[in-house]
Amino acid sequence: MLKFHNTLTRKEEEFKPLHANKVGFYSCGPTVHNYAHIGNFRAYIFADLLKRYLKYKGYEVTHVMNLTDVDDKTIRNSQEQGISLTEFTRKYSKYFFEDLITLNIQKADVYPMATAHIPEMIAIIEKLLEKKIAYKTEDGVYYDIKKFKHYGELAHIEVGDLKAGARVANDEYDKQSANDFALWKFWTSKDGDVCWDAPFGKGRPGWHIECSAMSSKYLGESFDIHTGGIDLVFPHHQNEIAQSEGASGKKFVKYWMHNEHLIVEGKKMSKSLGNFYTLRDVLKKGHSAKAVRYLLLSVHYRQQLNFTFESIDAAANSVEKINDFYRRMVDDSEKSHANHSKDILEIIEKFKKDFDNALDSDLNISEALAALFEFMNHINKVEETLSQSDAKEVIAAMDTFDSVLGLINYAKDDLEPELRVLIEKREDARKNKDFALADKLREELKNKGIQIDDAKAGFRWKRLKKL
Ligand code: AMP
Ligand code: ZN
Repeated sequence: MLKFHNTLTRKEEEFKPLHANKVGFYSCGPTVHNYAHIGNFRAYIFADLLKRYLKYKGYEVTHVMNLTDVDDKTIRNSQEQGISLTEFTRKYSKYFFEDLITLNIQKADVYPMATAHIPEMIAIIEKLLEKKIAYKTEDGVYYDIKKFKHYGELAHIEVGDLKAGARVANDEYDKQSANDFALWKFWTSKDGDVCWDAPFGKGRPGWHIECSAMSSKYLGESFDIHTGGIDLVFPHHQNEIAQSEGASGKKFVKYWMHNEHLIVEGKKMSKSLGNFYTLRDVLKKGHSAKAVRYLLLSVHYRQQLNFTFESIDAAANSVEKINDFYRRMVDDSEKSHANHSKDILEIIEKFKKDFDNALDSDLNISEALAALFEFMNHINKVEETLSQSDAKEVIAAMDTFDSVLGLINYAKDDLEPELRVLIEKREDARKNKDFALADKLREELKNKGIQIDDAKAGFRWKRLKKL
C-alpha cells in the first residue's frame, strides 16, 4: 500500500488520489533571482523522485512547478544589476532549466511564470475582498487571518492571541510574526516600473498569492499533492491554504509533502548565510552530475542531509557501480554462452518487491537503494551462469528501477578502432603468455582512458572517464 507522510496531519496516510488514477501535483519552484544552489535542488530532486515513482505505480501525473519572477528579492536584485525585471528573471530561468537537464530531473508539464498570471491573482484577491476576508489599507490589500478558521493548522501555530489588525508587508517572516499578510502591495517608487493595474489599485502581488493562482489555474481548486522545502510550511504554504480555501470554500490540497534541508556544518544551505554551492560550482570542481543526483536522492526526504565533498565522492562510487553493472549486463546479453538460468525471473521479482515495498513506505529511498545493490550483488554471484536472455531480463529490470532513480548513463559505447587494435594485441600477448607485453599494453590503454579487467568469462574494458 502506497503511503505518504502528510504535513497537514503529521501522519503517514494511504495515498488515494481525488480522481481515480490521475494525480494533480504542484511544487513550489525557484525564485529566479540567482543560480539555484544544490540545497534548492534537493527540493526538486525530491519532487522528481515522487513524480517518477507515481508514474512507475501507473498514475497519470500532471506536474506543475511555478517560477517566481516577481517578489521583493527579484525586484531589488534586478535594480542592483540595472536591468529590467524581465531580462533579469529570464536569465536565471534559463540557467535553472539547464540545471534541471544536467541533473536528469524530468520536466514538469507546466512551468507557469508569476508575471504571466496577474489577472488570475487579481481575481482571487477580488473574491477575498468581496467575502470580507481581505481588506484594503494605505499600502496594499491584506488577508485577515482571523477570518479563516483553520489558520495555523498546517504550521501548528495558535493565532488566538494576536493583536487585531497587526500586519506584515514582507513576503518572508517567521512564526512569531504570524499576522495579516499582503496579497497585493500598492506601487511605491521603490518598485520602479514593476506594477500592474488592478481594480483595488496599481501595484504588484505578494509572493503567496502567486502559488494559489497558478496551482488552481492548472490543477483546479482542489488537487492531490503539494511539495516544497520544510521552510515553506510557514508562512508560504499556510497562506496559500488560507487564500485558496478562503476564496473557493473547498479543500485546497489533500497531501502536503515537505523535504528537509541540505545542511552544511549544522546550518541550512542558503543564499542568505552564504554557505551554498551552485550545481555549477560543484561540477567545476570535477564532480559528476550523476553523483550530485545520487547524493541528493539517497537520503530520505524527511531527514536532514549533511553536505560534504567526501559524500559526493561516495555517491560517485555508487553511481559507478550501478553503471559498471549495467554495462556488463549489456556485454553478457551480447556475448554470453551460458545456459538459461531457470529462476532469473523469480530473483528479479523478489528484489522488485523489496524495492517497491520500500518506496511505498513514504519513499524510503535508502531501503530501495539497498534492494538495488543486493540485487546487483546477487546477480554478480551467478553471472557466469547467465544466458543472453537472462542478461536481457536483468537489463529490463535495471531499466525499470532506473525509471524511478534516473542514474544510469548507458549509451552504446563503441571503441575507437585504434583502441580496439591495442586491446586485441594485449589479448594476443596474454594468450601467448607474453605477460610483460600484455602489461605494457594494459598501461598504454590506461593512459588512453581504458581500463582492462580480466575475468573468468573473458576480459572486459571500461572507460575511466567520470560519469
Ligand atoms: P527559493 O528559491 O528560496 O524559494 O527555494 C526554492 C526551494 O528550495 C524551496 O522549496 C525551498 O524550501 C527549497 N530549499 C531552499 N534551501 C534548501 C536547503 N538547504 N535544503 C533543501 N531545500 C531547500
Ligand atoms: Zn509556492
